[in-house]
Amino acid sequence: MAARTYSAKVFATTVAFSSLFIAGFIGTVVSLSHFRPANAYNDYDFICGWTYGGGYSALSLPYRTDPDFPAYGYYTTMLASAISTWNGTATPVDFYSTSSGAHTIGVKDMGATVAGVVAPTCYGSGGSRSSTALYLNTYYVGNNSGSVFYGTGVASHEFGHYLGLGHSWYWAIMGTNDGSFNSPRTDDVCGVNVAYPNSSYSPSCGY
Ligand SMILES: [Zn+2]
Repeated sequence: MAARTYSAKVFATTVAFSSLFIAGFIGTVVSLSHFRPANAYNDYDFICGWTYGGGYSALSLPYRTDPDFPAYGYYTTMLASAISTWNGTATPVDFYSTSSGAHTIGVKDMGATVAGVVAPTCYGSGGSRSSTALYLNTYYVGNNSGSVFYGTGVASHEFGHYLGLGHSWYWAIMGTNDGSFNSPRTDDVCGVNVAYPNSSYSPSCGY
């Protein structure tokens, strides 16, 4: 089956300076009318068109860094911290580094538009990802030690999209953030557990 790139499903974290950052809705129509097992889970902008309870019981995610990945410690720190916090959640998420990983992460200068992006390539509608590219924008995720906390938050947010989460309007890494946290929160964890049902974890959220 041929893979196709969902250009319309390239997620971007917008940047707002009234708070450290607030995730933006990108072309997403959200309904308030039906039960949502987790706000960060939604089937409107869910990567690869997965539907409720997509049936992915394991989340083994091999990744490799972009060949152009800069040798600056803070980028490694940001990405490692984001991966570590996701791996540490009560979910089946298991990112691991391998040179042959199908999922690429990196950094590049994308100007003043977005803080980070995720672009999946999917097998058909409702299929699995054949690959994913995740990039942090050096324009914002930057060149001083003070940005590491922020950059880690951007990375954590983009990894949420990487996992298939959409945007939440709760206090969550996929939602509203006053800059006081930079890692997944309850709603994010619930979103993953809804999307990837696993007997070892249960989504206890619901609105
Ligand atoms: Zn986003």
